[in-house]
Amino acid sequence: MQVEYRSKEEIELIRVSSLLVGKTIAEVAKHLKAGVTTLELDKIAEDFIRSHQAVPAFKGYHGFSGSLCVSVNAEVVHGIPGSRVIVEGDVVSVDCGVLKNGYYGDSAYTFAVGEVSEDVATLMQVTKACLYRGIEKAIAGNRIGDISNAIQKLAEEHGFGVVRELVGHGVGKQLHEKPEVPNYGKAGQGMLLKPGLVIAIEPMINMGTKNVRQLKDGWTIVTADMKPSAHFEHTVAVDNIKAEILSSFDDIENSERENKNLCNVHTTQKNIV
Ligand code: MG
Ligand code: MG
Repeated sequence: MQVEYRSKEEIELIRVSSLLVGKTIAEVAKHLKAGVTTLELDKIAEDFIRSHQAVPAFKGYHGFSGSLCVSVNAEVVHGIPGSRVIVEGDVVSVDCGVLKNGYYGDSAYTFAVGEVSEDVATLMQVTKACLYRGIEKAIAGNRIGDISNAIQKLAEEHGFGVVRELVGHGVGKQLHEKPEVPNYGKAGQGMLLKPGLVIAIEPMINMGTKNVRQLKDGWTIVTADMKPSAHFEHTVAVDNIKAEILSSFDDIENSERENKNLCNVHTTQKNIV
């Protein structure tokens, strides 16, 4: 499959799907607290997506059973919703994709349930900041490596590990399209960015080692040292002056602020950027 460049009309459709993803994660965040199972969160997401005339993109994708990936603590990504009960102090990444009007949207956010250590709060802040550092580089004339390098640099400045095995990707008529968007790499290298390229940028940043392994369930990726990991993702359209962020964290951040069971590390702790 070739790299696709999207028309203005197509980008608007990807925006519709991406905004629905944000609203879905925001709905999940309202119910996120100690005692809830990851399958209960998944059901909330699936019902919400279907009630908005859309299809959960992950459900059935290569046989995946969930509408969300819910990845807790040392789980980096691709956690399968199930009987796991969320407890105080958990770091919970919620990744979601939807298909609507023939176009996909993809976004992810990491929450802290209850109180977390300052180290964990910093990991979450830095990972979110890495996402925006990457987005700043997603402009026409730059290269994929400029995005990758900006993410890697900020993460490593804080002593964190940047996952190599999993990467961002094009988004459009497929959930995962070309090109790959690694979270590590050299500035000035890789594919030239042009207006109309729509990509998901999604840093996966580990507290400790960059190394990961897959669990026997065939999906869940965990850190090799079992230290926590964080993950934030936006779907963005490359443009000339600055990238357009098609997904949104606005509703998610509102839920995070209003849900007293969550630790709002992004406003209550020192600012990173
Ligand atoms: Mg995703
Ligand atoms: Mg993605």
